[in-house]
Amino acid sequence: MARRARNWNQSSSAAPRAGAETGLYCVPHLHSSGGSSLESWSRVGVRRLARRHARRSGSGNLRPCATCLSSRQLVAGLPGSRTRRRCAQARRSPASRPPTKEPPVRMDHLTVRSWQERDGHEGVRDAWLASREALVGRDWSQVAGTCGLCGSSRGFVLTESMDPRQPDIREGLLCRECRHNSRIRSSLRLLLDQLESLDHPPAVYLTEQVTGTFIWLQRHLRGTLLGSEFEPSFLKRMALTRRFHQAGGKGTVEYQDVTKLNFADASLDAIASFEVFEHVPDYRTAVSEFARVLKPGGTCVATFPFTDGPDTITRALVDEEGEVRHLLEPEYHGDPISGGVLCFYHFGWDVLDVFRSAGFSDVRMVMPCGLEHGLFYGLWTLVATR
Ligand SMILES: [Zn+2]
Repeated sequence: MARRARNWNQSSSAAPRAGAETGLYCVPHLHSSGGSSLESWSRVGVRRLARRHARRSGSGNLRPCATCLSSRQLVAGLPGSRTRRRCAQARRSPASRPPTKEPPVRMDHLTVRSWQERDGHEGVRDAWLASREALVGRDWSQVAGTCGLCGSSRGFVLTESMDPRQPDIREGLLCRECRHNSRIRSSLRLLLDQLESLDHPPAVYLTEQVTGTFIWLQRHLRGTLLGSEFEPSFLKRMALTRRFHQAGGKGTVEYQDVTKLNFADASLDAIASFEVFEHVPDYRTAVSEFARVLKPGGTCVATFPFTDGPDTITRALVDEEGEVRHLLEPEYHGDPISGGVLCFYHFGWDVLDVFRSAGFSDVRMVMPCGLEHGLFYGLWTLVATR
């Protein structure tokens, strides 16, 4: 305390005259945008002076801090303090920063429209070679790069449960900032890119609602975001709703069957469906429903288990009596409430024809790639334009 007081007293002789305009200062973080430096000023002293100045000057001088993006705490007219000082809060808890308006990153991607085009595709081969080279002897404790979704350059990290000797890079390599895995980072970026050309706030539907992805979009999408879950059990619906709100979700959780959507015809600008189709026995009807509710020019972005072979593998089916028949060893995918959901399909390139038959005009598989974005080979994502 005595030291702080001494610093404050030392600096007081150099305190600014009213109206001195030498820089902009973020009050809580003392990050200066320029101006002269008064090295002897203590943090407490500058903060006190800044508050006093802010009271006198009113709100007209408030501007966002370029470092921590705090929008209310920057005041103009203070003399310099410790200039160019890094914002401590921005370093320690970057998730608390408001999102940047436009992610600065553009991801490269490969676009292929059929198995015939994919077979022998040089770009696909080069991406595979580059990815394989980067994977050999990789140190997973430090993966540098810029997230193509949130724009953060903090790099990437494997989930704690992932074995670094055999990592599942599609599912287990997370952005340190937004915590999205490679599959979501790449496919969500594709979705947002599709929406950029619209001249109105988009209406977007996600086929899963109780997920970190939906909650992230609630905070970042400028438009109408709709979502739903498929869960017949009342008790499990209660648990899902509780989980949604605990994770920071806003509003109520909706429940829908993707083969019987309750949206009006041509009412949505985009649909995103991540790892859902393989759990829907009658997925063809769901694709037709998506075509019905999308506006002309609307987009469906979807991920699912993809064999990258010509034909879809049917692992199980529902027979005429409504019973599940397993054609291969049952495969269940993780689900936070039910524990596991049966996987009916591993899709091949022929799934594109199902979308074309349902009325989509341009159907392609897109693979975002770029090691500098933590994206390795294999992130095939279906993009279909109505
Ligand atoms: Zn990110």
